[in-house]
Amino acid sequence: MASACSIRVSGVVQGVGFRPFVYRLARANTLGGWVLNGEAGVEIYLEGDELGLQAFMRELKTQPPPAAKIAEVEICPVAPLGVNEFTIRESQRRERPTVRISPDLPLCEACVEELFDCSNPRFGYPYINCTNCGPRYSVLLALPYDRPNTTMKDWPVDDYCAGEYADPANRRFHAQPVACPACGPNYYLQPQEDAISGTEATIQRSAELLNAGKILAIKGLGGYHLACDARNPAAVAALRDRKYRKEKPFAVMARDLDEARRLVELTAESEVLLTSSARPIVLAPAKVQLTGVAPQNDELGVMLPYTPLHYLLFAAGAPSVLVMTSANRSSEPIAYEDEDALQGLSGIADGFLIGQRPIARRIDDSVARDGVFGPVILRRARGYAPAAVATLPSERPLLALGADLKNSITIVVDGQAFVSQHIGDLEHYPALRAFQETIFDLVSMYEVDWDELSVAHDSHPQYFSALYASELRVQRRVAVQHHRAHVASVLAEQGEFDKRVVGVSFDGTGYGDDGSIWGGEIFLGSVKQGFERVAHLRNALLPGGDAAAQFPVQAAAGFLAQLDGLPDMSAAPFDFPHRYANALELVKKDVRTFSTSSIGRLFDAVAALLGFTRKISFEGQAAIWLEHMAGAVSDSDAYSFPFTGAELDFRPLLQNVIADRQRGRHPGEIARAFHRGIATGLADCVTAICRQHSVDTIVLSGGVFQNELLLKDINSQLGNRLRIWTNQAVPPNDGGISLGQAALAAFA
Ligand code: ZN
Ligand code: FE
Repeated sequence: MASACSIRVSGVVQGVGFRPFVYRLARANTLGGWVLNGEAGVEIYLEGDELGLQAFMRELKTQPPPAAKIAEVEICPVAPLGVNEFTIRESQRRERPTVRISPDLPLCEACVEELFDCSNPRFGYPYINCTNCGPRYSVLLALPYDRPNTTMKDWPVDDYCAGEYADPANRRFHAQPVACPACGPNYYLQPQEDAISGTEATIQRSAELLNAGKILAIKGLGGYHLACDARNPAAVAALRDRKYRKEKPFAVMARDLDEARRLVELTAESEVLLTSSARPIVLAPAKVQLTGVAPQNDELGVMLPYTPLHYLLFAAGAPSVLVMTSANRSSEPIAYEDEDALQGLSGIADGFLIGQRPIARRIDDSVARDGVFGPVILRRARGYAPAAVATLPSERPLLALGADLKNSITIVVDGQAFVSQHIGDLEHYPALRAFQETIFDLVSMYEVDWDELSVAHDSHPQYFSALYASELRVQRRVAVQHHRAHVASVLAEQGEFDKRVVGVSFDGTGYGDDGSIWGGEIFLGSVKQGFERVAHLRNALLPGGDAAAQFPVQAAAGFLAQLDGLPDMSAAPFDFPHRYANALELVKKDVRTFSTSSIGRLFDAVAALLGFTRKISFEGQAAIWLEHMAGAVSDSDAYSFPFTGAELDFRPLLQNVIADRQRGRHPGEIARAFHRGIATGLADCVTAICRQHSVDTIVLSGGVFQNELLLKDINSQLGNRLRIWTNQAVPPNDGGISLGQAALAAFA
């Protein structure tokens, strides 16, 4: 006797080959019925014998297509309708599209094979893709995900592609961006060369240019890259020079995994990251020195090819390690429109390798590493965004605007929290525009009504994002304190809203309840009840305010002014530049000087004491310098960083640093003892608070916790005594703030 059921599958199930998979599975088990893309996911009706249904369910759950992420399967037994055939039905369009948008996918193995099979019609075609791979979010103009709603709408498919697209048994069944050399877009070189025509010659010539040390702007999935031979110091130097990028590390793309293994020390976990469907840039210890690529840095960011074009370039003989950096002028967002790229990069690139398929929105490469507590995402963009990262108990839609640095936004629809791609620093006008575009993009994509929307924003009255919130006509606004948002971001990922934790929020800067600059905060509480600030770094002063973040000696002035009996810092071994004396003068006269509890600035001050006395050329540079110097030393003592019951006192720490430096102790050893001191002081502090309030779990978040050495030290002190939660799905830096804001606003 026939049984029947209706099934609803939610999660990332559209545009990932889910319906053909269901079709084949149903046929294999001789079941009748249909499958369609509904608004809440994939909807399936099945009818047949009980054993077939069971086999179907088993495989549905255990063998879904590689890029699919099933969140939930709801099964409801129904009366059989007497359907024998299994069919794929057209998309339905009813209410709000809570179906998740798939992030972009790297080229799959089956397509790689076809790409290099000279008997295949798509041999050497840079836009080959199928339902298991290729662009998604970066070509999507509107939902539902159908070809007319993508940037492929201007290339009508020919009979060959149409046949595959319509064949449920084919790998390209309903592959929206399907294309072939006869009907689809192509790549061309600019400036054009007369002798070069056709894709093969274009890519061949591009590889030659790269081998000759030229810099190429190459259109990728979510924007343009600037590429050059990473083993050619002159090319790398020229790129730095033209891009006005002094020292900030460049990421590289390695031809394949073997090449990546030659470049960096890869753990099993970092290889998993490197080859994962997000294909992020993975930070790992460098094994080789590539001149100018990551100066004074013992790590290197490496990624693998992910578009057909990348594979073709390497196959055409391009250098096996390419610098591949976001194409922009310094600190601007990545260029993704051809006009913009041609104009903005004209003084940087020697040539342009331009693909005709438009990019719907800019999406940078993601950055990740295998950290002390497992994989951590440092920049969340291509391959991850805009996937949902958490479920929040909010019936109403919520929009969280994030922080002004490393901005990302979060939109909550039907309780699902979708985090946007990394947007950038809002002080720069192009990033501010990108911020606005992303807000409107996501609000319209999810068909959210502005009138029913609640908006969460940082409590900083001068933040662009906060000012922007005040101008939106929405239902409700919620101001969320920066460091509480950091802590809440971790708990939102964990889905723990009632749990009371001790939350440690260490970063460079954020607006505190009292209007001062916070950054060394310890909270007690839960997302639901809110977080009470129970301890913090002893206050120091910051002459020049947030601008002091550029100059470690300026931060040093504000911290050192808290000590008695200071030596002459303009003399050896410190040799501070005059800026220090000027800053000290500001502190003494209390001019443009602010109170701060920022751990980030404490790291800067110590970096200055150990020799980093110049201006930094990218955010976090002094702290990274300090971490790497300390990392070269295996073992050491810990400087005293006492917890007095409400404050962590940095004065003994700094006195020790100064004394050891004067004594001539190796700076690396001092840096090591400093790290260990911070970890030990923090461990004592959270242990005391946890004991006092019977709490068993601590949360660590904020940009300072990108420091792996510090995490290692904290883990070795506390790992076997307390549960430690850190960020996994969103970055610990300000890129994770919007998720935390959304979580706290859901209970406000
Ligand atoms: Zn494929
Ligand atoms: Fe922060």
